[in-house]
Amino acid sequence: MTNNIRPLVAGNWKMNGLKAELAIASAVAQGYEPGLRRSVDLAICPPATLLFAVSAALIGSRIATGGQDCSAHESGAYTGEVSAAMLADSGAQFVIVGHSERRTLHGERDADVNAKAEAAQAAQLVPIVCVGETRAEREAGKALAVVKKQLRGSIPQGSTGATLVVAYEPVWAIGTGLTPTVADVADMHAGIRTELARLLGKSVAPGVRVLYGGSVKPSNAAELMGVANVDGALVGGASLKAEDFLGIARACGA
Ligand code: PEP
Repeated sequence: MTNNIRPLVAGNWKMNGLKAELAIASAVAQGYEPGLRRSVDLAICPPATLLFAVSAALIGSRIATGGQDCSAHESGAYTGEVSAAMLADSGAQFVIVGHSERRTLHGERDADVNAKAEAAQAAQLVPIVCVGETRAEREAGKALAVVKKQLRGSIPQGSTGATLVVAYEPVWAIGTGLTPTVADVADMHAGIRTELARLLGKSVAPGVRVLYGGSVKPSNAAELMGVANVDGALVGGASLKAEDFLGIARACGA
């Protein structure tokens, strides 16, 4: 954790969820009791088709919602794309950009991620900018260099703690059950904070939330969330079970 930063636990439902899964959002809202509310922020990022309904189900709960991606364009002839303004209009406060599945499966490069993050901020959304190295890059000792390059290329200039969240997600840890060691997480998050200070300024960097993501579950959350400079979690698989998501939130707020 970082002093004076309110942690954020964000759930990425990925391409999972039909109307029946609105019950997950309601169960999370029910479990977000006042003690937890005092210590940790929550966000749910459902598929775009459910965003309006999840946002409506969460009114009054103080749980935010977010998109999982957005177009870099404002509007127009971009069939199939969803703009940041559309996400905001559906109730979102956040949008995940540059998730490794977008970078790998859709060929998104840092410049694309940067354009999407800029579009998000222009629509008053807070982008959750994902960065992270592959297994091969870690084994080659290049993890920090790769992540710093992604940060440099992806983060909008002039971002602040109120307008930007960063998520460190080692690609090899996503959905695999594998996690880096606590020491590796500590090194990486310290390196990210230093790079943020270089990019955004020394007074801004301490206020930017840097989440860890990759196989977070209730059983490992306390250890991971206890690492310096880890300000919450981006949760994939475990966010689809309300009790697991809340368990992670409790570990984070403890
Ligand atoms: C993710 O997709 O952002 C993620 C962290 O997934 P998981 O928690 O399932 O590893």
